[in-house]
Amino acid sequence: MYILLKDLKKYLNKTVTIKGWVFNFRSSGSIYFLQFRDGSGEIQIIVSKKEVDKNSWAACQSLTVESSLEITGKIYLEERSPHGYEMQTQKIKIISLAEEYPIGKKDHGVDFLMDHRYLWIRSRKQAAILKIRDEIIFSIRLFFKNQGFTLTDAPILTPTSCEGTTALFAIKYFDKKAYLSQSGQLYLESLIYSLGKVYDFGPTFRAEKSKTRRHLTEFWMMDAEAAFVEHQENMEIQEKLITFIINSVLKNRKKELKILDRNTSLLKKIKPPFPKITYDQAIKKLQEKGIKIKWGDDFGGDEETILSQMFDRPLFIEKYPAKIKAFYMKSDPKNAKLVLNNDCLAPEGYGEIIGGSQRVDDLKTLENKIKKFKLPRQPLEWYLDLRRYGSVPHSGFGIGLERTIAWICGLNHIRETIPFPRLINRINP
Ligand code: ATP
Repeated sequence: MYILLKDLKKYLNKTVTIKGWVFNFRSSGSIYFLQFRDGSGEIQIIVSKKEVDKNSWAACQSLTVESSLEITGKIYLEERSPHGYEMQTQKIKIISLAEEYPIGKKDHGVDFLMDHRYLWIRSRKQAAILKIRDEIIFSIRLFFKNQGFTLTDAPILTPTSCEGTTALFAIKYFDKKAYLSQSGQLYLESLIYSLGKVYDFGPTFRAEKSKTRRHLTEFWMMDAEAAFVEHQENMEIQEKLITFIINSVLKNRKKELKILDRNTSLLKKIKPPFPKITYDQAIKKLQEKGIKIKWGDDFGGDEETILSQMFDRPLFIEKYPAKIKAFYMKSDPKNAKLVLNNDCLAPEGYGEIIGGSQRVDDLKTLENKIKKFKLPRQPLEWYLDLRRYGSVPHSGFGIGLERTIAWICGLNHIRETIPFPRLINRINP
């Protein structure tokens, strides 16, 4: 029997066995101090020569960083210890003695770390990010469950693209061509007629040529879609979701936020209502800052950074020009040049984390938009059918998991938000 370090509290002053890895150690002659982790927590292990048998002491003397061990000893509280608890060892058994570990304390270049990503993920910082990733995924699922959404799935292998194939990965599908999904949205739209409010959570793929700190070629997206929800309510759902995620991370991942040295006072400010500006207002704000941009241009990463730095909470930008947004977005009834959509930009310059819109629900309008956007009609016939059989007003949005993690963890680059990042110039390991 062995226990997990996350449960230490229950075993105070008891003798227990733990299993894990030594990530650091030092010795002062007859005592060894081991920094030890098991994936659920950390502890400082004290090994005194006079308290252990010969074999255990020999094991200790042969130790190398990242060796795996089974240790038996007594747990006690130690406020001065970095982990709050210590173990006085009775017995140590080496499970596997590690060879010289390539990642040391000195600064390694990013390429070196990325080449050794399978080891780099063991570091405290990387593990903390991945624990926060888990918290965010779990909180998204919990939020939607609480709100009465049904979890469903969209296919990853898709027959065609509805928005052009430039950013798609094409693959051979027997004697045909298929594409890896870049969003589950259209499929989710069909599911609202069966399930009402739905969401999916899956990997999406974009052959982004952009070498930025915000773009992965494989990333996880949560798409939500809801019948009878219109533009304003769609933004309210997004606002509640973000607030829920932030509160969950602040409440359940304090230790990890501390490891990342995250300024949590900035996260604590994230309370609804979030500021909302229109695309027109955003263009004016950028022009006032001296940015060369005109009505009709889309925002790039730099513009998004500038806009999001103007606010201390996530910023909604709504009602973009129809011609720069997807064909399925519904026109603003007050101005046909605009659509009822929104992007949501994370504060601190992190840029877009959500894209959402109310969808066209009328058959004729959708047919016209497909023509206007010069899209092939045949692959979209099934999508048009949705407007033939009981169409309703509906809206939805997609939140990018890794962008959200990068913001909440305060990271400079999206590559650290996912265990094995896929980037334009990297598919290994
Ligand atoms: P951008 O213009 O910033 O590349 P987009 O407008 O193409 O993003 P959407 O199609 O609206 O993005 O996708 C919804 C969300 O998915 C985005 O808000 C973002 O959080 C995330 N996302 C999109 N592309 C990527 C990517 N290449 N890597 C990581 N996340 C992404």
